[in-house]
Amino acid sequence: MHSISSRIEKVSPSLTLAVTAQTKALIAKGEEVYALAGGEPEVDTPDFIKEAAIKAMMDGRTKYTPSGGIPELREALAVKLMADNNIEYAPNQICVTSGAKMACFNAILAVVEEGDEVIIPTPYWVSYPEMVRLAGGIPVLVETKESTGWKMTPEQFEEAMTPATKMVIINSPSNPTGAVYSREELLALGEVALGEDIIILSDEIYEKLVYGESEHVSIASLSDELYNLTITVNGFSKAYSMTGWRLGYTAAPKPLADAIDKIQNHTVSNATTFAQYGALAALQGDQTFIEDLRGEYDVKRQFVFSRLRSIPNVRVVEPKGAFYFFLYTGQMGLKSMNLCDKLLSRYKVATVPGIAFGYDEGIRLSYCTTLDVLNEGITRIEQFCREH
Ligand code: PMP
Repeated sequence: MHSISSRIEKVSPSLTLAVTAQTKALIAKGEEVYALAGGEPEVDTPDFIKEAAIKAMMDGRTKYTPSGGIPELREALAVKLMADNNIEYAPNQICVTSGAKMACFNAILAVVEEGDEVIIPTPYWVSYPEMVRLAGGIPVLVETKESTGWKMTPEQFEEAMTPATKMVIINSPSNPTGAVYSREELLALGEVALGEDIIILSDEIYEKLVYGESEHVSIASLSDELYNLTITVNGFSKAYSMTGWRLGYTAAPKPLADAIDKIQNHTVSNATTFAQYGALAALQGDQTFIEDLRGEYDVKRQFVFSRLRSIPNVRVVEPKGAFYFFLYTGQMGLKSMNLCDKLLSRYKVATVPGIAFGYDEGIRLSYCTTLDVLNEGITRIEQFCREH
């Protein structure tokens, strides 16, 4: 008998990865599947980034680096965080790690003790509650609504707080809803956090994908007090289409940064060395790639929004960021898993059930695919909704 630790027993496997596996199995059987479930840009990493990593490898950058990352990259990140986010971090407050996922986990592990509560607005990015459980903490879920644009209000935040609350997770722009918190909204949430010294994990991985009038604001930039409570998480996966490179980072006040560095010391050691040189090139090179990507996604976002709005039985809020739509499907009376299963098996459209994000009355569609796939996929979703 193998005895699995109770921490791991409490953790669920990733449902998004399960959907991907199911979709791949159908494709392998020769079925044409309209994949609207993905979570990564469909374009390749720009060549100049790949070339920098290849060169680094050929130049022998194949050994360990300092655990927080190569000094040049941490310096470039400090410059980026000042220029883009208006936050001042010294390079030794930044820790480069294996993806923003690990950055989130490091941040949680650095702060959360056994029994501590972490407030997470739902729909949430799949991994947050499981990471909190892995750290021995208790996820406290706050259900947001379409009517507030899928955003947690300060009142909801305050209500969810208890003496055991240690951290709140804010993900703007959000996966899965595309919600973007405004400066005022962040200030209001920040006020609540400041009242009880709640640490803020600000996951800003989609910061570059913000559309229309909306702007991305980093909560740590709003005041010294908020800076002192915030761990800013970001990475290279979405903005530079580098999901497979596994590169993300935390930036935090020095005591938190030191704690994160200790975790990194004893777990990953350092993010892959030659990949870090690719990241350095990404930051220092031509940024037009990002603007082009954002422009393309904006076209797709507007197209999808105009189509989804006219579908009966579902409701949709215009997402202001990231590359997802979260459809409210509560009127259809189907559990989200069941709904997604039917969509996939009968209509060959892959989406992600809302339950994966802690919200069973919705599904997530991503628009990081071609306009043709989006068009046909949505036509099929419409057909499905009309027939149910
Ligand atoms: N945070 C959010 C909100 C995400 O959507 C993702 C990726 N899906 C991550 C973090 C993790 O990013 P990475 O691939 O860099 O680990």
